[in-house]
Amino acid sequence: MKYYSLNNPESKDAANTSFREAVINGLAPDRGLYFPEKITPLDKDFIEHLELYENDEIAFRVIQQFVGGEIPDDELRKIVSETLSFDFPLNKVEEDVYALELYHGPTMAFKDVGARFMARCLGYFNKDKDQETVRVLVATSGDTGGAVASGFLGVEGVEVIILYPSGKVSDIQEKQLTTLGQNITALEVDGVFDDCQDMVKTAFLDPELNACNLTSANSINVARWLPQMFYFFIAARELKKQGKEPVFAVPSGNFGNICAGIMAYRLGLPIKHFVAATNINRTVPDFMNSGKYEPRPSKATISNAMDVGNPSNFIRIQTLFENDFDLLKAMFTSESYTDEETRTAMKAIYDRSEYIADPHGAVGYLGLKDYQKNVPGTTGVFLETAHPVKFLDTVEETLNTKITIPEQIVSIIDKQKKSVLISNYDQLKTFLLKDSH
Ligand SMILES: *Cc1c(COP(=O)(O)O)cnc(C)c1O
Repeated sequence: MKYYSLNNPESKDAANTSFREAVINGLAPDRGLYFPEKITPLDKDFIEHLELYENDEIAFRVIQQFVGGEIPDDELRKIVSETLSFDFPLNKVEEDVYALELYHGPTMAFKDVGARFMARCLGYFNKDKDQETVRVLVATSGDTGGAVASGFLGVEGVEVIILYPSGKVSDIQEKQLTTLGQNITALEVDGVFDDCQDMVKTAFLDPELNACNLTSANSINVARWLPQMFYFFIAARELKKQGKEPVFAVPSGNFGNICAGIMAYRLGLPIKHFVAATNINRTVPDFMNSGKYEPRPSKATISNAMDVGNPSNFIRIQTLFENDFDLLKAMFTSESYTDEETRTAMKAIYDRSEYIADPHGAVGYLGLKDYQKNVPGTTGVFLETAHPVKFLDTVEETLNTKITIPEQIVSIIDKQKKSVLISNYDQLKTFLLKDSH
């Protein structure tokens, strides 16, 4: 399998980037997103008998063509099985409404899946001792950093450097970033998330840092994006046992998660419709109404992991629908919700079903319910992308209740925080240069 850059769609016929290079580069040299040159639907017999297969076997078959033999099958099976070492329960919340809980991994966010898979792929590509250490540099506003840190912990030949804005992440998130040690370093930046992001971007473009082998682990990396297909298959398999074909409602920010769902559909997974639910950062809902794509600065909301004004993966979604607006519209709907609507939904779900949804999941729920109003009789799944404990204050205040702190979180609360304070790019550069000699 070869990949090409979506900044240059004409290069598709001459696609020449291997999976390995795509994973290590993150972005193509022309700053475009990588996309597979070809998508081959899975064997019909396999899809028709999906209920006979376990998670690991499904995941292996789903990802195999995208790895293209660059990781031996037995090794890939091992990677897939370590990636999926926790559960993906489908929880019935109401008649025909299910929550797909993606938060039972080590950092309690769905990003664990992509981060664990990517870490293991990089570890494999870097396994030979003569390879130089790869440095993963990542800026985080909260969830990404924790998932990446946990996913890469102890992977040989890989060092992880996380930049986070001092005082701007929750206590739990900070503990997840700063208490692991080993090959993980947390740089605490005197600034906001955008400052962290800018420093990372500057570092990637700095020729003096070429020798540092920097790579990125954000959601545009194919090794973080593609494994997210796994749980769409897992959920669809469960509903197939009841003879149902799901509508998926996905709370969306950078649109990587829903884009993986659409890729699963392209592989032949029977899915009735996709709903991309957003907060007030409504670039895509507006595009679906007007046909005009107008990125804008992001606005802060209670579902802050989706505060994205220019979703990077939307170009991949358009590509998956052959850049045809009518094809896209037939299968894909996008709606935007305010914080007030989100809180009302959280309360309604709790009152009706005693189910606690986090703000992101609640946005997904709203998108699903609106779709089902228009298309009655459908079975819907909304993705619960983070454990409610990760948004403790908002959830407890909105529902007027206390949340039980899960084991994953209890175990880090008393650990000692370790971070390196920096306040400008030169300090980051000095750190990287010192570290690589
Ligand atoms: C990252 C994140 C999202 C958004 O996912 P995208 O793939 O960027 O659309 C939604 N919910 C939570 C909790 C997240 O951490």
